[in-house]
Amino acid sequence: MLELEEARQRILATLQPLSVESVTLSAAPARVLAETIVAPIDLPSCDNSALDGYAVRAADLSGARLEAPAALRLAGQVAAGDIFPVPVPPGSCVRLFTGSALPAGADAVVAQEDSRGDPEQPGRVLFVEGVKPWENIRLRGEDVKRGAALAQAGERVTAGLIGLLAASGRPEIQVRRRPRIGLLATGSELVEPGHPLPPGKIYESNRQALAPLLARAGALPRIWPLVADTLPETKRALTEAFAECDGLVTTGGVSVGELDFVKQALQEIGGSMDFWKVSVKPGRPFVFGRWREKFLFGLPGNPVSAVVTFLLLVRPALAQWQGAKDLGPPERFCVLAEDLANPGERRHFLRVRIDEQGKARSAGPQASHMLSSLASANGLVDVPPHAKLPAGGMVRVILLDD
Ligand code: AMP
Ligand code: MG
Repeated sequence: MLELEEARQRILATLQPLSVESVTLSAAPARVLAETIVAPIDLPSCDNSALDGYAVRAADLSGARLEAPAALRLAGQVAAGDIFPVPVPPGSCVRLFTGSALPAGADAVVAQEDSRGDPEQPGRVLFVEGVKPWENIRLRGEDVKRGAALAQAGERVTAGLIGLLAASGRPEIQVRRRPRIGLLATGSELVEPGHPLPPGKIYESNRQALAPLLARAGALPRIWPLVADTLPETKRALTEAFAECDGLVTTGGVSVGELDFVKQALQEIGGSMDFWKVSVKPGRPFVFGRWREKFLFGLPGNPVSAVVTFLLLVRPALAQWQGAKDLGPPERFCVLAEDLANPGERRHFLRVRIDEQGKARSAGPQASHMLSSLASANGLVDVPPHAKLPAGGMVRVILLDD
């Protein structure tokens, strides 16, 4: 039986990043960058006004005060997107709007609120106080200098980064391909939701719970039909799904029962098993195997075990496949609102609920078939064997919904 970290290392050492493709920015959210992006232009691309007001030469306003305002001739205006054709002559000002390019010769902008029209001469504007050079001006390149690195390969694309790339004029970026993952559930007891439930059967829930986790991890999940517990059925299902996917996530059929066929089926279709069994609870039976250049993650059938092993072992693999630097799963620190105990022999990933104050407490009964506490949980806490984590202590919480 492998320790979790060893299992994770063995998986990560096996998976190479997928190929690179070009996508438009609208298709880029949550993808993993496959290039380092250098700023093609300065941002802002020219000196411009931070507010609605007047471009001035600061020296023209020195000594201006309420009793003795400085009066400047209004030389024109610059609407958004325009430029002023000539330098601002001394003694003049130019009407600007937020984002208007600063005319040559001007070195400050005065807010509209700090000026007023001259009642005696309509073509003039009065300023009742001075202004410092470069006040209210957004300087060219102050946000980003041309040639600076905007983002590195391996970063996940956020909305903020997309905004920055669009502002820099980039229409497309290079990202890693998303892994296509087939989701298969094994078990002759399984029935699709929406059908009548015969005695002795249960509704299938693992594929439904795992599909959104796969999607959130950047994969393209594809749900395959239910697989009955026979060797021929299992072999057929794996062969068909492998042909159309980069990897498979199966649930059930990896324990020691005579009707657990996933391992045998994988081997009989020409695949190999890298390891089986990881020392965690819930989730001990876990298969990592290969078929040609593709991979199989065989999760346990118990619904909570399937989700927990997915987060601990499959999610990092998906991140690595996409070339991500951060392999997750995402975590945060929380204070425990109550003791969390693990009397058992294996590390227990306990379902917890983090409340609005950021405190974590048990989400309910922790047996690995119990979905109610999984549904009310938003995190998992790794409690070592024979240990008690005390109330008030700080713990790392693996986040279920991020
Ligand atoms: P197994 O790993 O196949 O021995 O299954 C362990 C437990 O999980 C059994 O109680 C199964 O009925 C249950 N189980 C297996 N697969 C699923 C599934 N896809 N949805 C819900 N429960 C399942
Ligand atoms: Mg089964």
